[in-house]
Amino acid sequence: MKKLFVLLAVFLLPAFSAAQAVHTTLQQEEALLRDWIKTISSDEFGGRKPMTPYEEKTINYMVDQMKALGLKPAFNGSWFQPFKMIATTCKPVGDKFRVKGKKKTELIHKEDMMVWTARATDKVKLPSAEIVFCGFGIDAPEFNWNDFDGIDVKGKIIIAMVNEPGYYNSSLFRGKNMTYYGRWLYKFEQAKRMGAAGCLVLHNTEAAGYGWHVCVNGHIESNLALYDEDTNNSDALAIKGWLHEKGCRKLFAAAGMDFEAALEAAKKPGFKAFSLNLKCDVDMDVEYNIDQTCNVAGMIEGTDLKDECVVFNAHWDHLGIGLPDDRGDSIYNGASDNASAMAALLFAAKKSFEMPVKPRRTLIFLSASSEESGMFGSQYYCEHPAFPMEKTAACINFESVGPAELTHDISVMGGGACELDNYIVEAAAAQGRYVFFKYDNSDGWFFRSDHFNFVKKGVPALVIENGKDIVDPSRPNKYPYKSIYHRPIDEYHDDWDIEGMIANINLMFSMGIRAANSDKAPRWY
Ligand SMILES: [Zn+2]
Repeated sequence: MKKLFVLLAVFLLPAFSAAQAVHTTLQQEEALLRDWIKTISSDEFGGRKPMTPYEEKTINYMVDQMKALGLKPAFNGSWFQPFKMIATTCKPVGDKFRVKGKKKTELIHKEDMMVWTARATDKVKLPSAEIVFCGFGIDAPEFNWNDFDGIDVKGKIIIAMVNEPGYYNSSLFRGKNMTYYGRWLYKFEQAKRMGAAGCLVLHNTEAAGYGWHVCVNGHIESNLALYDEDTNNSDALAIKGWLHEKGCRKLFAAAGMDFEAALEAAKKPGFKAFSLNLKCDVDMDVEYNIDQTCNVAGMIEGTDLKDECVVFNAHWDHLGIGLPDDRGDSIYNGASDNASAMAALLFAAKKSFEMPVKPRRTLIFLSASSEESGMFGSQYYCEHPAFPMEKTAACINFESVGPAELTHDISVMGGGACELDNYIVEAAAAQGRYVFFKYDNSDGWFFRSDHFNFVKKGVPALVIENGKDIVDPSRPNKYPYKSIYHRPIDEYHDDWDIEGMIANINLMFSMGIRAANSDKAPRWY
């Protein structure tokens, strides 16, 4: 018996030591990640709103960390990529727009509508603007759908429902796998192309994927847009914004028209936009400020394919200081969104240096500004990239990666389009995990972060979400994403479960490294 014990001890000893070593490393990694997240999401960083004093603090912190890790600046010797933005704070005079039709009504600021402009002006006035109900506000020839057929919306305010017909009828568009036509940004772009003066996106909590508070909190002050010095943004929509369903009901009531019937008609092929025969008196005071904000990026030079790159990104901005919640907390710390991802970005950079063989393609570690207000930093980056877009093999975007419980599976959106599919399957298999390709994009999540600006330019990207096949169901994530999204309670806690987060970061990192080392850049199918 004694002999057996000794034998066992000898046999077990090396395995035990190795396990202990791995465990220590994991603990160190966890401690490092927690430290970054805790720091970045602390009140000291004030919710990281661009063009506030907190911007400088945030971007300097990121650069300091990048320097300490050994990265090199990515923009011709500079860490910073400055660009001009306009911040507008808009207030309808009297907190309302007066509307006249068969009856009179008023749209109340923040309750019925949330409106703003990107124009550099002190006042927006649209006396007696006509309002046109445009269904989803979509012109999509490939889906044989045009809500603007036969109507002139020049100089008018259009109402466009959020999402798209496929959300309501699986035989239309791509069913619940939402296309870009369902996004509110598309609606604004299309309204501008049609020459409309304004565009109000009709909110619906289910179809939008988020509640009215997101529409209000995100736009209450300092609405941001890229600023073009040549035009002074005079070609931007005079007003854009969100319309609450109850506001829209008021308009239909004033018009003497049937709201429900209009919504139903708009979901069917052959719908035609129509005027509500209302005159809306838009009179809005605007305070604006043109300022500069910065993307930051560091890089690790590749070897034989160093003229090409893979971009890792994590936006650094969040919502700043805004409306207090019922605890009286007004700092939107954004611990999950997006301090967790900024930490992941630094973590990925650290891991890149620890690889025994240098990556073949150059790795760019980008922390883009102004994602929350419309993905402007990544848009600017994609128009002025450190490496040309056609030399950018993939974009690996970290977005709100923690906290997360460890799962056997991993959920992937955007699959079926490019060879990154194979890389993620391989990387997951190497972790003993499996991939669930999710073709339901009904909440539009695939379009809702920086990677999509890369996709628009032809750069492959996937969106990774935590799986559902939980390794330890007795220990559920205490901070589910939907309950903290864009609220002051998105704060770091020491009891954050980050085991799953580390696994997911490693997975995305591994996918990126595969893209950096493959003979050919991942191709589109
Ligand atoms: Zn985010």
